[in-house]
Amino acid sequence: MSIGISHITKQFGEQKALNDVSFNISTGQVVGLLGPNGAGKSTLMRIITGYLFQDSGSVDINGHNTQDTRFDFRREIGYLPENNPLYTDMYVKEYLSWVASIYKLGKEKRRRLSELIGITGIGDEQGKKIGSLSKGYRQRVGLAQALIHNPSVLVLDEPTSGLDPNQIVEIRNVIEEIGRDKTVIFSTHILQEVEAICSRIIIINKGLVVADGTNTEVKALSSGLRQNIVVEFAEKVSREAIMAIEGVETATLIDTNCWWITSGRLEDLRGKIFNFAKNAGFTLLTLQKRDLQLEEVFQNLTLGNRN
Ligand code: ADP
Ligand code: MG
Repeated sequence: MSIGISHITKQFGEQKALNDVSFNISTGQVVGLLGPNGAGKSTLMRIITGYLFQDSGSVDINGHNTQDTRFDFRREIGYLPENNPLYTDMYVKEYLSWVASIYKLGKEKRRRLSELIGITGIGDEQGKKIGSLSKGYRQRVGLAQALIHNPSVLVLDEPTSGLDPNQIVEIRNVIEEIGRDKTVIFSTHILQEVEAICSRIIIINKGLVVADGTNTEVKALSSGLRQNIVVEFAEKVSREAIMAIEGVETATLIDTNCWWITSGRLEDLRGKIFNFAKNAGFTLLTLQKRDLQLEEVFQNLTLGNRN
């Protein structure tokens, strides 16, 4: 169930969509692929699933090279493309049954269909036309389609895009459930989603991998660049006095006598702030280090304000 991506490059005309992308995913990981629009996420997913060929580099799925044995490895992959293309005139069960035939499920088909209808929660909709379903249920049908042949690797391109908050949670739960025994790679714009369900985060920007690791690792990578500290005094303290503490880069008043302080240093500034308060006779009510939010990490890495 492993995916090995090695030095993938893809160019569309002048546009370099992927620039020497490499990473390995081992069994059972749920990987969140993040990146701004146009970063190359869909291109990468299309290459992994064999719908598009790379210019150079290789993709290995469970020991199959995607360029050599195209059809062998497809059995191992389930794919939900961006925008979830479905045949809207077909009925849900009819469509899934047709997909099952393509994968030559044979005798197993009937059992697998009812199993999947259960997993994805579309029992009540199976007799309906796909075109009449809400977006959330269409996504479920798309997931059922991707899972029908029981692949070990699932590639989902923005599976929760365009859904309302309740539908997002439902689809997320389905993905989480599936992720227990499969390798899942999915792209999303919802950072909380990645924090909630991914064991690993890969951020790509302009065709390059700019971060790769667990949630904590990715945050640490970025927070190495900056520290955030919240300080609340019992008294009014001037900005000048705070700025004079060694290592303080910015000080922003965020509430009455409460400051958001940043520092470009690795050294924990809290000791210096404590001593400052002690020496000046101020009372500290709060002195807390704040982890960077994933959102901030994402912006640091993709807006080009890395220092
Ligand atoms: P993402 O999914 O991260 O939004 P894409 O992989 O869709 O990004 O696109 C990456 C870049 O490659 C974009 O600049 C996009 O315009 C370009 N691109 C993608 N597919 C094609 C294509 N078939 N022809 C030309 N350019 C493409
Ligand atoms: Mg895309």
